[in-house]
Amino acid sequence: MDEDDEAERRVLVIGAGAAGLAAARRLREHGIPVTVLEARDRVGGRILTAYDLAPFPVELGAEFIHGDRVITWELVRRFGLRVFEDPSQYRRFFALDSRLLSANAPEELPAGGLWAALVAAEEEWVAARRPDTTLAEALRWWVERHGLAADERWWRLWQTLAAIGWSADLEELGVYGTDEETYEGDGERNFRVADGYSRVVERLVDQGLDLRLGHPVERIHWSKWGVVAVAAGETFEAACAVVTLPLGVLQAGTVEFDPPLPASLRQAIDGLRPGRAFRVALRFRGEIWPEEVGCIFTAEPRGVWERPGLGYGSRLPLFTVLVGGGDAERLSSLGADRAIREVVAGLSAALGRDLSGEVVEARVIDWTHDPLARGAYSFTPVGSAGLRARLSEPVCDVLFFAGEATSTIRPGTVHGALESGYRAADAVLQRFVAAGSSLT
Ligand SMILES: Cc1cc2nc3c(=O)[nH]c(=O)nc-3n(C[C@H](O)[C@H](O)[C@H](O)COP(=O)(O)OP(=O)(O)OC[C@H]3O[C@@H](n4cnc5c(N)ncnc54)[C@H](O)[C@@H]3O)c2cc1C
Repeated sequence: MDEDDEAERRVLVIGAGAAGLAAARRLREHGIPVTVLEARDRVGGRILTAYDLAPFPVELGAEFIHGDRVITWELVRRFGLRVFEDPSQYRRFFALDSRLLSANAPEELPAGGLWAALVAAEEEWVAARRPDTTLAEALRWWVERHGLAADERWWRLWQTLAAIGWSADLEELGVYGTDEETYEGDGERNFRVADGYSRVVERLVDQGLDLRLGHPVERIHWSKWGVVAVAAGETFEAACAVVTLPLGVLQAGTVEFDPPLPASLRQAIDGLRPGRAFRVALRFRGEIWPEEVGCIFTAEPRGVWERPGLGYGSRLPLFTVLVGGGDAERLSSLGADRAIREVVAGLSAALGRDLSGEVVEARVIDWTHDPLARGAYSFTPVGSAGLRARLSEPVCDVLFFAGEATSTIRPGTVHGALESGYRAADAVLQRFVAAGSSLT
């Protein structure tokens, strides 16, 4: 390829998370020159594994491969990474009124379980063609329709499941948008990447990739002739760009598009919502919970405690808690020390023992206020059905949007982000083919 040809075919990829690196990899496999511009000094974005907290990897961002039929497995196999099924999913407990209730206690929970009830409420609301509303209202209607005596404890747990599943509260979630992305064909089991999730994305960086870390993109000039991005005082020209900026970053407007993005795309960006998540990893002085417990969902705050060492056969008392939705926002506002005290108080109440003096080390990751994430995973409020599809449409055949928020059926996941990167790369390749370029 001569220099002119190279300039005509170069593609910029903005962001080196799962979506950006998947796109870069696919493009390079077809002989397309790629430059990846990443603001952080690492790849992975919302995948972040800590290797210094314990003798095993501890996930501070994405934690599980959800399902045994998702695209992440292709990479895991290709890169020879080790994966194991997460044992905690079979030892789930709910903390309610100072006692632990096994998730397999059918007499105290709705038939089929709490999660199934949420999905049923949403599906029945849509099937009845009722106007879009919040998941909270649909659930109230569903409970009444089935003549259930949903006690107040169920409601608290439904809120916790929403906070973890969607990083939002039931009152914030729209039924139709949520229904669009309720896809159950991927399998229900959760898996951990034994080598750490970060390795999946790190291995996507192939030798020779022009990867510029520490390059926050400030401006993207675009026209039908191509794109020019400005980052770290340098300019980068290309035929087109794959933009994988997180939804919260697009909403904040910290990256300027010149000219501004078309109104319909802007509506899609503003109509979706970035969820909120607050994660703390804590090492305790000694054992804190009974051996049969794998993980605990708490209602105050709305979160889930995990013991990541479980699948590695380690008894190190290292735990993580993921808090989502409005409670994550509230913890953020408290500052790290008070937030840690609050999550430990919540677990103390659940276990019926005071753990306040037992914490040896803690690390906080506030995804909501991380300036390069500005949220956990995106969710769909009332009236936002169809917006993800709109967000994934190319603009003028030069801007190709990817990232979890653009995934129509698997948003908020690593596999959805990977797929979106491949989808955007394929659209770029089609554009080159249509313009008469030959691909390898
Ligand atoms: C706490 C938490 C738990 C999760 N748990 C799971 C889970 O168990 N399983 C699962 O499948 N998914 C999970 N997810 C979701 C998953 O992490 C994301 O859906 C996925 O990683 C998003 O990938 P992405 O490429 O779309 O975005 P990102 O990973 O956010 O990548 C975007 C990149 O753009 C960069 N960037 C931002 N601004 C600029 C700029 N101006 N210039 C250049 N670069 C910029 C960012 O630094 C980032 O690297 C979780 C997420 C969180 C936060």
